[in-house]
Amino acid sequence: MTLSDEQLKRVADAPVLDVDELTAPLKIASLELLRNGRNFLVRVRTTRGEEALAVPNAMRMVDAYPIFVNRVAPFFVGKDARQLEPLLWELYRHNDNYKYQGLALWVCVAAAEFAILDLLGQHTGKSVGDLLGGVKRREIPVYRASGNRGNTPEAEISYLKQLIAETGAKALKFRVGGRMSKNADSLPGRTEQLVPLVRETFGPEMTLYADSNSSYDVPQAIAVGRLMEDHGYAFFEEPCRFDHLEETKAVADALRIPVAGGEQEFSEYGFRWMIRNRAVDVVQPDLHYYGGFIRSLRVARMAHAAGLLCTPHMSGSGLGYLDVAHFVSCLPNPAAFHEFKGDTDVPIRSDTSTLKVEHGIVRVPSGPGFGITIDPAFVREAQVVRKI
Ligand SMILES: [Mg+2]
Repeated sequence: MTLSDEQLKRVADAPVLDVDELTAPLKIASLELLRNGRNFLVRVRTTRGEEALAVPNAMRMVDAYPIFVNRVAPFFVGKDARQLEPLLWELYRHNDNYKYQGLALWVCVAAAEFAILDLLGQHTGKSVGDLLGGVKRREIPVYRASGNRGNTPEAEISYLKQLIAETGAKALKFRVGGRMSKNADSLPGRTEQLVPLVRETFGPEMTLYADSNSSYDVPQAIAVGRLMEDHGYAFFEEPCRFDHLEETKAVADALRIPVAGGEQEFSEYGFRWMIRNRAVDVVQPDLHYYGGFIRSLRVARMAHAAGLLCTPHMSGSGLGYLDVAHFVSCLPNPAAFHEFKGDTDVPIRSDTSTLKVEHGIVRVPSGPGFGITIDPAFVREAQVVRKI
């Protein structure tokens, strides 16, 4: 289905956040960044003394945090939390913030958005998915992903077996190529051996994805994609350089299997081009890198209008797996499986989910906001990160 830019713009511009039941302003008194060891928290407080917490992406925040404390947090002070959605645009314009467009800005915007969403959840009793269009599912089928490169195919197979044994997942993703490597493999011949070997090992029922992390030019990507087609793979992620959208489209046009991408796209126009031109078949905004749930849902909704699927990219650290689960709970067009990394060291609990994968499924918490409690001792020990 081909849609015009105007049609896609209308889809993207439709409101995402639904807090109509909040009739009184919810004025933000402070938005603070806290640090405990290698983890970060964001704490939002209202003028009435209510507070909420969120867990940002620690791996990126450790470098990007001055943008949060100098530019993002001060903007929200005195603002009405109910206006979060239009405020995202104002924040982008404010103080020339748009000049920082990219991961460093958006990861900080996402950190603020997550905390304000949790605050709105506490006030409405709604979980994140119900704030953002309505929960459609609470059981999310997951895939496990290997981050390895450079190991032998045999070593990789035993690692993948371990991932499946831990979770009962019905889908796997692993890495091919050499990562931004101009066609070089991480080990000569690894990709050509691994693609058939993973299928042979896990059988026809396992859903398989492979990610080249921008490794290939068009001819090499098509050759690897054909091998994946021959073995019934379900998508090929980032076959070409992530920002070379024309090459990515050339590969998607040539292959029968879907091409996935978008983890390093930071522009709504970039995504719109990808969707309108079908440069990818599956869009993968990263909830942190792309600036939060609301912006990512605009992308997912454009993709849905064009008949494409969405599975969010999951960056490491923080509570990425929980963020992905909440996002997928309200997605109109989820792919069959979504990434799960449960390796957080932030101490949390939930009354409505074990937060673990059981038989390949993770349950989305149903409590207000993110539906979790962060260990109060961990919060008390965290230090406020000051403006510099
Ligand atoms: Mg990837």
